[in-house]
Amino acid sequence: MSFSAHIITLFPELFPGPLGASVLGRGLAEGRWRLETTQLRDFATDRHRTVDDTPSGGGAGLVLKPDILARAIDAVSPPGDPRPRLLMSPRGLPLTQARARELAAGPGAVIVCGRFEGVDQRVIEARGLEEVSIGDYVLAGGEVAAMVLLEAVVRLIPGVLGAAESQAEESFEHGLLEYPQYTRPQQFEGLEIPAVLTSGDHGRVAKWRREQAEALTRARRPDLLAR
Ligand code: SAH
Repeated sequence: MSFSAHIITLFPELFPGPLGASVLGRGLAEGRWRLETTQLRDFATDRHRTVDDTPSGGGAGLVLKPDILARAIDAVSPPGDPRPRLLMSPRGLPLTQARARELAAGPGAVIVCGRFEGVDQRVIEARGLEEVSIGDYVLAGGEVAAMVLLEAVVRLIPGVLGAAESQAEESFEHGLLEYPQYTRPQQFEGLEIPAVLTSGDHGRVAKWRREQAEALTRARRPDLLAR
């Protein structure tokens, strides 16, 4: 069984979007991972297909109704579905490369995309939704966040990226940012490729890359070193 993603959204037409391009799109076409969407509005029960209502306690905006969302989740992910149920949310734990790896090794994910002010707290608890954030800023909806999460996860599924695209040394894989990359031409606007990289000495290359990665991480992301 390949990794199976199922998105619950008010905007299914946004998918696969960027997930349909390049190596991820090829992987999707080849069946290395699967993507389905469900229109939340299909689970509304009134004539106007209402999915939201005003916040209890007052305030601006609208909140996704728990009963409608619960019905959509139950239809997509009945009891016994082994896939984790994620809710894209700025209140969630920030997505990390480590969590992306865990998800990529699993059966897939059911992903709820919020809109408006978010979703009723009771459905988060009643359906065991894991809130996941893609960063400390607020988007208009969960769809782009779900795409970010899936893009990070799906590229880690075996066979999706070719052997040419190496992952082992990438940013975050060893708690460090990646070293600088160069390619030909040898001279660009008067700037040379660092001589060590064309020396053919693999030991020196590895040492240089390690030092560069550490220096970059210290300068830009000391929080990564602290972990
Ligand atoms: N009122 C909420 C924000 C709602 S934004 C709050 O202050 O926490 C509307 C929807 O966009 C959210 O329900 C969520 O699904 C999505 N979203 C916004 N920012 C996000 C982020 N940083 N990470 C993941 N999802 C996000």
